[in-house]
This record gives sequence, structure tokens and C-alpha cells, in this order.
Amino acid sequence: METFDLSLSPRFAQLLAQREAELRAVLRATGDIDEHASDVSNGEVVDFKDMAIEETQAMVETAQAGKAAIELEQVIAARRRLQDGSYGECLDCGDEIDVRRLTALPATPYCTACQAIHERPALSRRPPPNLMTGHHP
Ligand SMILES: [Zn+2]
Repeated sequence: METFDLSLSPRFAQLLAQREAELRAVLRATGDIDEHASDVSNGEVVDFKDMAIEETQAMVETAQAGKAAIELEQVIAARRRLQDGSYGECLDCGDEIDVRRLTALPATPYCTACQAIHERPALSRRPPPNLMTGHHP
């Protein structure tokens, strides 16, 4: 197994910076959709069919934004670990993470074995509270 070493650091810094920019773009784009949706409901002419489509799109966008927000946190944490020299070590067991895994998932904090353990409770984990409802009374 090939493991992370400091010579790979610039490459992963670049991968993570790129991923962070992508995720921030997703979060910005979904923010724009919310603004647009509120414009429609304040308009004089409301086409309910269009509204339904917009709502469905907004829900999909909200789900994507939720995932993006979680991944963004991981990316930021990974960049911090890259700076403090702990990048490439599993947060749970402390083992070195395979470089092939890091290349595919540069923000991953866990090795394959620990990830499998974390994925089970993740299924029942709720999204962040501010993303659970798309509207306010
Ligand atoms: Zn591990």
C-alpha cells in the first residue's frame, strides 16, 4: 500500500482547494434558487405548476446543499490537517490511509475499515437543523 508523504502535499493541497471552490459554488447556487423562489411567491401571477416544479427543484437543491455543506466541512478539516502534518492518518485508528483512497476522496478523515463503521450510523443521522425545512412560517 502506498501511503501519503509530504512530497504529495502540494498535489493534495490543490485537490482540496479545487474541491472547496466547487462546493462553495454549489452552496452559492442553491442560495440563489431560494431567493428566486421567494420572488415567485410574492409575484402577482402565480403559476402553480411552475411553483411545484420549483419546489421540487428547491428540495433537490436543499438535499445537495446539505451534502455539500457536510463535505465542505470535511474539506476544510482536511486542509487543516495538511497544514499541521496529520493529513493521511485515519482520525479513528491512526493508521495511514491508502493514497489511492485519498486521491479519490481527498477530504476523507477515515481509512476504509473505519469509514465502513461510520457509514452505518450516518444513515440515521439527520441533516443540519437549518436545512431540514426549506421555509419558515
Ligand atoms: Zn481507521
